[in-house]
Amino acid sequence: MKLIDGKQIADAIKAELAAKVAAIIDAGGDPPHLAAILVGDDPASQTYVASKEKACKAIGFTSSIYRYDADITEKKLLDVVDFLNNDPEVNGFIVQLPLPKHINAGKVLERINPAKDVDGFHPVNMGRLALGLPSYLPATPAGIMLLLERYGIETEGRHCVVLGRSNIVGTPMSLLMSRKGNPGNSTVTLCHSKTRDLGSVTRQADILIAAIGQPGFVKADMVKEGAVVIDVGIHRIADDSEKGYHITGDVDFDNVAPKCSYITPVPGGVGVMTIVSLLLNTFKSFNHEIYP
Ligand code: NAP
Repeated sequence: MKLIDGKQIADAIKAELAAKVAAIIDAGGDPPHLAAILVGDDPASQTYVASKEKACKAIGFTSSIYRYDADITEKKLLDVVDFLNNDPEVNGFIVQLPLPKHINAGKVLERINPAKDVDGFHPVNMGRLALGLPSYLPATPAGIMLLLERYGIETEGRHCVVLGRSNIVGTPMSLLMSRKGNPGNSTVTLCHSKTRDLGSVTRQADILIAAIGQPGFVKADMVKEGAVVIDVGIHRIADDSEKGYHITGDVDFDNVAPKCSYITPVPGGVGVMTIVSLLLNTFKSFNHEIYP
């Protein structure tokens, strides 16, 4: 069994990006700029946005955070999106989810200029992904594709089973694995809560990608000997440690790992790649790679 070291890959890509940014600055240019809109005081959202800001700083990007109270009106939030759409100094921006219930998140995401939609959630970017056209890829599936690529894991003609059909992970993941390319060219099965006899499907997987949001859900008897297992889940489990919690995934790691050819740990696997993908999308936006 080989552990897929997301941290090592993430650090290598960040170093590559930092060198490119340094060259831009040396040549007298301004670095790429990523902005984030943060509404309310959800602790997880605060943590995610803070780590995105830290990652930007580490590689030389500039960044800004637009913070608003949870009672901001939808109209005001749409005005902020319009402002960032039109700000020439902002190469890309994200709206940190979830948004308060009185705001229609779909409407806000659709208002983002697709050319600055570095989270890749806009219907135009999702549609372009489905059609195999250049687009900003949603960060988590894009990070998984990078892990498969950098570890040289064969995907062509292999059976990939994706657990979970969310718009941000499962569905785009299934599209990426089935589309032409390397990684890609897999035969894909997408499972969800209505899938019957889930174990009989997951046991056919050469590559199993778990994104269902239930800690330790994937057990050893659901995994074929020699499978590649990618664990997207992130769960904070309370314990007696000094920190008071530990992080675990959707896979019962201790029992599943011995059966795998490759497996991602949690933490240190997929999660660390997500921010890297966001940085890569911002760099692509800076270079007008997707929308020339
Ligand atoms: P989500 O929106 O809650 O979707 C969960 C999916 O799993 C749904 O499609 C659901 O089916 C399916 N599902 C739930 N229980 C199931 C069961 N018993 N059997 C089969 N399918 C089941 O989740 P998400 O946003 O994709 O996130 C999934 C996990 O990844 C979470 O732990 C989240 O924290 C983590 N995550 C990590 C990152 C990262 O950077 N590593 C990024 C995003 C999310 P239905 O559609 O039928 O309801």
